[in-house]
Amino acid sequence: MTNEIWWRLGCFFSILVVMMLLEGYKPARLSSITKTKRWTANFGLVFASSIFARLTLPIGLTAVAFYNAENTIGLFNQVFYINVNLPYWLTIVLSLFILDIIIYWQHRLFHVVPMLWRLHRVHHADAHVDTSTGLRFHPIEIVLSIVIKLLVVTAFGIPAIAVLIFEITLNGLALFNHANIRLPQAIEKPLRLILMTQILHRIHHSQVVKETNSNYGFSVIWWDKLFGSYKDSAIKSDSELDIGLSQYPQSKQNASLWALLLMPFKNK
Ligand SMILES: [Zn+2]
Repeated sequence: MTNEIWWRLGCFFSILVVMMLLEGYKPARLSSITKTKRWTANFGLVFASSIFARLTLPIGLTAVAFYNAENTIGLFNQVFYINVNLPYWLTIVLSLFILDIIIYWQHRLFHVVPMLWRLHRVHHADAHVDTSTGLRFHPIEIVLSIVIKLLVVTAFGIPAIAVLIFEITLNGLALFNHANIRLPQAIEKPLRLILMTQILHRIHHSQVVKETNSNYGFSVIWWDKLFGSYKDSAIKSDSELDIGLSQYPQSKQNASLWALLLMPFKNK
């Protein structure tokens, strides 16, 4: 755990670079706005979010998990749970399931509650989807998401190692399923039985509201199947799909860091 930051950064940059190379080699869709413009705004938002999270949250998720373990806080740290003597890996798997299902419902909540949608629409307003879109979240949404995870980690006493595995996987999968690529059918077909593939996730970025409000999962498709929000195809084909939000056309406004930071506070 002492190398946490290196594990995080190492996985993040490796997946990011692989996705960008694949997007450059064979992009699934073309964008009329330049990469430089979109990437400046999207990565700028990552930078702003990191600073904002540092300033508002004094302690990280794994540090909280360690604190909980030391002070017997949360379900998995209680004597009765420890006495059940479940194998440690099972607690980790259980923790990953809990965190993932919470993230699914958090995502749905951000679509349904108008105030939260104001924040989340910064992500959806991107008129093109590529791996950088997977990082395009308003700093307030990032902080709210960390706070929700903090509460879950504390309530369940989720171990620090599970938190780290979850964070790395979720982040990696967000980069993966936003990538502007189309996997060969022989890979995509079996993969979509478990994972949210790029084609499936692009349906979530469609301008058709019914399609935006589907495929909420960032990782597995199970939660969408279980809770009735799964869509295996859109009205339009993957290459013709209208991406983004109709009220935010592809423009400078939509690819400027300042505009994205202010977007939740402006009516549209
Ligand atoms: Zn969404």
